[in-house]
Amino acid sequence: MDELLTKENLDYRGRAREVAEKYVRPIAAELDREARYPWEIVERLKEYQLMGEWIPKEYGGGGGGVLNLCIIVEELSRACGGVGVAYAVNALGSFPIIFGGTEDQKQRWLPDIAKGQRLISFGLSEPTAGSDAASLKTRAERNGAFYVLNGDKKWNTNGGAAEIYTIFCVTNPERGTRGISAIVAEKGMPGFEIGRKEDLMGIRCVSVHNLHFRNCRIPEGNLLGGKEGLGFAHAMQTLDFARPGVAAQAVGLAQGALELALEYARGREQFGQAIASFQGLQWMLADMATQVEAARQLVYYSARLLDAGAKNVSKIAAMAKVFATDTAMKVTTDAVQIFGGYGYCKDYPIEKYMRDAKITQIYEGTNQIQRLVIARNLIKESASMEPKLAEMKEPAAVS
Ligand SMILES: Cc1cc2nc3c(=O)[nH]c(=O)nc-3n(C[C@H](O)[C@H](O)[C@H](O)COP(=O)(O)OP(=O)(O)OC[C@H]3O[C@@H](n4cnc5c(N)ncnc54)[C@H](O)[C@@H]3O)c2cc1C
Repeated sequence: MDELLTKENLDYRGRAREVAEKYVRPIAAELDREARYPWEIVERLKEYQLMGEWIPKEYGGGGGGVLNLCIIVEELSRACGGVGVAYAVNALGSFPIIFGGTEDQKQRWLPDIAKGQRLISFGLSEPTAGSDAASLKTRAERNGAFYVLNGDKKWNTNGGAAEIYTIFCVTNPERGTRGISAIVAEKGMPGFEIGRKEDLMGIRCVSVHNLHFRNCRIPEGNLLGGKEGLGFAHAMQTLDFARPGVAAQAVGLAQGALELALEYARGREQFGQAIASFQGLQWMLADMATQVEAARQLVYYSARLLDAGAKNVSKIAAMAKVFATDTAMKVTTDAVQIFGGYGYCKDYPIEKYMRDAKITQIYEGTNQIQRLVIARNLIKESASMEPKLAEMKEPAAVS
């Protein structure tokens, strides 16, 4: 596998692995127990020059692209899924600025994010707008040189830790998705309140908050791209680029769980021998390892396509997300099974992997929505192909 990675990929992986093994793994259980934001890890990520890897070099970032982002997220998640997403969500929040911001806006926000001086989050979901993101209600009305923002955002990952927020809102309710815009809100703006922190099942060290906007006046210069109506397109493009990152989080979790399960299976004895010697468990371990490798290859392939500037990437990004995250759920559950009763309590770190894995099937579009994206693209592609059943005049008889 290493032979297929470039020197740059290996360098990013080496640095991320060092942060993960030296600093993340020793405190992963404590971060989870205390639901405490991993600020000390953010400092290490800055020290190892990993923050802002995905931001173009001209704005102070690493210019490393999506594959390197995936490699870093995978390594961090192998030690702690919460730290993996605390890092990755900065990419999710800043992609709309990278894709849709004016030059002035990029200069204004990206260098700080690249240095890790300020964290960023992505505010699309609302209490009543989840899978149906286009039904969002947060309203931005023009008033002189300002937009007045009113509404509530839900599930804002990094909500408490971030200082910059990419907020999707309706600027023209008559125009459907073309009436949605993206506006950058900054912590401390009057009328912008960080609300309740969620008490999560997994990824407990990231702060996920509600956000509230009440007559919050945001300068017109914060409207991304300087034009109304571009927000939904930027949100969808962002999700295409970010989904391999969630998939990489899942690969890291699955890999981490597999390694722990292998170590445990070699050490635990029943019937006078290591449980790893039982064929029933060997087949499980073989399937787990095969699934992790298949998921990794799909994630890296989708990331390489994005980095190569491929068009129509929604389908492959959704495939990577759905396959890797379903794999993570299966592999982490099997890993708990291999630990037996000890897997079901907090004496060992394995149950945390299973809890952390579950969210990857839900956020950035549930896996039902990913399948919908894949199926829609398949049907569209099929409709544009040369018919191969032309000679068949009538449906085949069913006997
Ligand atoms: C911990 C966490 C962090 C998050 N972070 C962020 C964030 O940073 N920014 C952000 O904007 N959002 C974030 N989200 C929101 C997340 O993206 C949504 O939870 C997700 O998109 C699902 O929306 P929902 O929870 O409203 O579920 P719903 O949309 O209500 O779905 C409920 C169920 O119905 C299914 N369903 C819905 N529509 C269909 C359909 N057409 N066909 C088949 N099944 C369907 C879903 O798959 C799901 O199983 C986060 C969520 C969580 C839990």
